[in-house]
Amino acid sequence: PVVVLGSLNMDLIGRTVRFPEAGQTVLGSTFSTAPGGKGGNQAVAAARAGATVRLVAALGDDAFAVELRTHLQAAGVRTELVRTVPGASGVAMITVDDTAENTIVVLPGANGRLDALDTATTAAIGRAGVLLAQLEVPPATVLAAARTAREAGVPVILNPSPAIDVPAELWPLVSVVVVNETEAAVYGNHLDAVDHLITTLGARGCTVRGPGGEVHAVEAFAVEPVDTTGAGDAFAGTLAAAWAAGVEPAQAVRRACAAGALATTVPGAGTSAPTSSEVDALLAH
Ligand code: ADP
Repeated sequence: PVVVLGSLNMDLIGRTVRFPEAGQTVLGSTFSTAPGGKGGNQAVAAARAGATVRLVAALGDDAFAVELRTHLQAAGVRTELVRTVPGASGVAMITVDDTAENTIVVLPGANGRLDALDTATTAAIGRAGVLLAQLEVPPATVLAAARTAREAGVPVILNPSPAIDVPAELWPLVSVVVVNETEAAVYGNHLDAVDHLITTLGARGCTVRGPGGEVHAVEAFAVEPVDTTGAGDAFAGTLAAAWAAGVEPAQAVRRACAAGALATTVPGAGTSAPTSSEVDALLAH
């Protein structure tokens, strides 16, 4: 099984011809909501890739919490370790204008209150095949979970996104890091401490640096993208599922690369990750 530790957000998406200036009101066009947050997206991706997935996350006591929990369960993610805290669930307020430019305000809400790990969570991490985490929840919690995993001999996959200051003790606990080029530049030589460093390069595929320091490139799969949001999350979730299933690293990365490509062919991010048979079909192509 895969344990994912991370964020849950409801994305609130409004479209408008032009953005308002500060203090101004404009009349927009359409509104929609979509489940988001890297933790939830990556958990759904791992479940679609065929893994048993338990998500460790926090939701508020509002209506978005009910909707997000239902969405996760429908996608096959186990939610017993998703706790409820008083107040608002995480929200991302997204405005998109006619030129497809966007502005985003993320309000972490309950995600910021995912603190001490309870005993059920610690036990689940100890029994996992892989722990997968990102940085949209408090770094101290990620550190505690990584320690728990490491002590139990469970490999830790970290997608250190968004790029923030993290405790230096975290890096040596991590077996696999998945970063994009921007994050790779920010973290620099902190990444030297990890065994497997995977740098995703969008339409150029990814590079992998193994434990011996050797680097090899994995070409992207040719697809016709309609929306590249969610590619990174599909990549990370699929990688974790393959890693937990004992797939050898080079093949796990190829599956992740294929999943990232397929995710760009579907709008949105919350459920754009492919199933394992869709990945098999692209690999066999
Ligand atoms: P992020 O969304 O985190 O910045 P990337 O854009 O690097 O991540 O995408 C993650 C992975 O998804 C890439 O390594 C690649 O394998 C795949 N991918 C992304 N965009 C494309 C694309 N246009 N064509 C094919 N594969 C893609």
